[in-house]
Amino acid sequence: ALVVGRRVKSRRKWNRVVGVLKELEESCETTVGRLRQVVDAMAVEMHAGLASEGGSKLKMLLTFVDNLPSGSEKGIFYALDLGGTNFRVLRVELGGQRSDLDPDVEQQPIPEQLMTGRSEDLFDFIASSLYQFVEKGNDSVQSLVTKELGFTFSFPVKQTSVSSGVLIKWTKAFAIKDMVGKEVAGALQQALTRKGLNMRVAVLQVNDTVGTIALGHYHDEDTVAAVIIGTGTNACYWERTDAIIKCQGLLTTSGSMVVNMEWGHFWSSHLPRTSYDIELDAESPNPNDQGFEKMISGMYLGDIVRRVILRMSEESDIFGPVSSRLYMPFALRTPAMAAMHEDDSPELMEVARILKDVLDIPDIPLKARKLVVKICDVVTRRAARLAAAGIVGILKKIGRDGSGGITGGRSRSDVKMRRTAVAVEGSLYTQYTMFREYLHEALHEILGEDIARHVVINVTEDGSGIGAALLAASHSSSGSVDNI
Ligand code: BGC
Ligand code: MG
Repeated sequence: ALVVGRRVKSRRKWNRVVGVLKELEESCETTVGRLRQVVDAMAVEMHAGLASEGGSKLKMLLTFVDNLPSGSEKGIFYALDLGGTNFRVLRVELGGQRSDLDPDVEQQPIPEQLMTGRSEDLFDFIASSLYQFVEKGNDSVQSLVTKELGFTFSFPVKQTSVSSGVLIKWTKAFAIKDMVGKEVAGALQQALTRKGLNMRVAVLQVNDTVGTIALGHYHDEDTVAAVIIGTGTNACYWERTDAIIKCQGLLTTSGSMVVNMEWGHFWSSHLPRTSYDIELDAESPNPNDQGFEKMISGMYLGDIVRRVILRMSEESDIFGPVSSRLYMPFALRTPAMAAMHEDDSPELMEVARILKDVLDIPDIPLKARKLVVKICDVVTRRAARLAAAGIVGILKKIGRDGSGGITGGRSRSDVKMRRTAVAVEGSLYTQYTMFREYLHEALHEILGEDIARHVVINVTEDGSGIGAALLAASHSSSGSVDNI
């Protein structure tokens, strides 16, 4: 009787866990119908953000980048790339003919204490890294002062020109209070001066999405947008200046400009939100901020999974006694989550190893390990499909989704003729096969095969950094942007 009693009890517990999974699946549901609503909401918010300052959660920031590299750029250019996790210094030699760029790149993780300390320390670190990088190479450090320097800064900046702008807010794991509202390129200039590098020419400052669209366009002239899905997420695209209504009289020689959407802050009631998302947001350093990003990007996915495992662990003992690691924010990082998700060994040994090493959950039965894989799958699938909906939202805004755009215009058959390329970068997309596959699958579902055939996703490598060098090259003698 005792044995039978135990069995009943354990079955009940298992049912509770399955209940938690079911609830998760339901609240993460992304049917094509729902994704189409997200697409529409994205396109509508883009319009609103272009119509007036503060008109939408989408900031739709001007970049003052009004021409994209064509392949004819020449010279040696340096670029700095400050992202969410890593910092890179790059040197690119451009031969004047579109070719495989083979830059020198040095990458290092950004020391964590610099993300929340003083801005001077962060910019001194950047300036020193550049100095050391140049010193090690063949160019003289002094040759730098006559060059335009590309600076990729992967945070929302309100730009006033291609070389100046102030930080609106920090995102991801950064929180340096004294920097908000300050000139970003200016802070870099000052740090360079402290290092003895008196740059005579401006630092060209771009968002990482803008660097990516630049490299995307260098290789493929049909590139109209760029998306980053890494630690954070964002997109930019090529927009006609007359559509940027909030900035009347904006003149560029091309008649267009790259717009940095800052889509990480996008929000819509159609987004499938769970109790885990709500808790994650409330406990994050930036509550009520970057809602779309918190469902999609690498900084957060692992933490959503951790929260689901914690809930299950509290509801039952299938994971043994509740591990204290499960209470640690960000204890499970997205790369570890991806490794569990993609474990294809029959016994799920990688899942077992990560649960033990990372979350201190040893020796759980195979069926519990399978459950963990399923959680990862649900969370990643939702993220990838929402990112796909975001991309189609952009295509819709510019009339490349086959529907004629929300303002009407082109007929379906016209649009079908246009090949449309989107440059994509970021560790989630490049390192996480399941994420990439789910994203592609959703693009096809939303667009339909006929249209999807004309949409090309190009992966760029180090585009955020190389692109800044390319833009430094293509903007170094232009100065063609006028804001009257
Ligand atoms: C930032 C964007 C950036 C994106 C990808 C977001 O958190 O707000 O500016 O492009 O991360 O790095
Ligand atoms: Mg980056």
